[in-house]
Amino acid sequence: MAFEGLTQKLQETFRKLRGKGKLTEKDVKEAMREVKLALLEADVNYKVVKDFVNSVTERAIGQEVMESLTPGQHVIKIVHEELVNLMGAKESKINISPKPPTVIMLVGLQGAGKTTMAAKLALHFKRNNKHPLLVAADVYRPAAIKQLQILGGQIDIPVFALGDKISPIDIAKASIEYAKKNARDIVIIDTAGRLHVDEDLMLELESIKKEVEPNEILLVVDAMTGQDAVNVAESFNQRLDITGVILTKLDGDTRGGAALSVKAITGKPIKFVGIGEKLSDLEIFYPDRMASRILG
Ligand code: GDP
Repeated sequence: MAFEGLTQKLQETFRKLRGKGKLTEKDVKEAMREVKLALLEADVNYKVVKDFVNSVTERAIGQEVMESLTPGQHVIKIVHEELVNLMGAKESKINISPKPPTVIMLVGLQGAGKTTMAAKLALHFKRNNKHPLLVAADVYRPAAIKQLQILGGQIDIPVFALGDKISPIDIAKASIEYAKKNARDIVIIDTAGRLHVDEDLMLELESIKKEVEPNEILLVVDAMTGQDAVNVAESFNQRLDITGVILTKLDGDTRGGAALSVKAITGKPIKFVGIGEKLSDLEIFYPDRMASRILG
């Protein structure tokens, strides 16, 4: 389960706090030292941890908390609120274009779960009475096109493909025309990935962006890769000005670092999370629920 270590450590700290009748400044500082360590061990970005702990401490040693009847409970509430703020305060909705189709471009490194996510999103939108079109624009990875066609078949959603001899830019462009003619109101473009961030890939993605002017550019990152996921998000964001992040593999034993750092570092919200290999294993990202899950 994700966040297991973090949750356990925070609960230990909070148990001690709750056990105290009155809190001194020293008690709060001691607890915050433990929270800081727990977050660092969960692979949360150092600067993010520092800012977070400072904000909580500032609020927690205020008069209101110190004089309250249940100061421990009060501090826990502050931690919860600050976790929610850290992850973006509220749910970040998909930007639906008033003039269909809404174009969603999925980007990310190979293996992050992009192709699977394209199909998961298509299913999500279909269940919300939309008519998605999946677009196979990864012409480099062997079998990527086939994989998308198979996934599309499983959820009865059309897949636009022109093989692997045509440029991804032309495929993307043609798919929008196809969507218009065939009343598909959401176009989900599965772009190519690489093992690492690389210049050719970025140039290609920039060209696709310029050509199709997507309403959303969502970066798919593997939550299991922790700080790396955040670095990848920063690189993609610098080049593409992404509109949001999707964290996959949150069902694994990820320590939580990516979920807690990505918004603070890139300024871009997490919009969805992948929680398994099945196409229904998709959740809208609610910062409040995630904070509750982390606090256990
Ligand atoms: P791509 O290279 O980014 O297109 O990645 P794929 O969509 O092919 O996914 C890579 C692997 O990760 C596949 O085996 C997927 O089944 C798996 N995967 C994708 N999303 C999730 C998830 O949320 N949880 C788990 N456990 N596995 C996932």
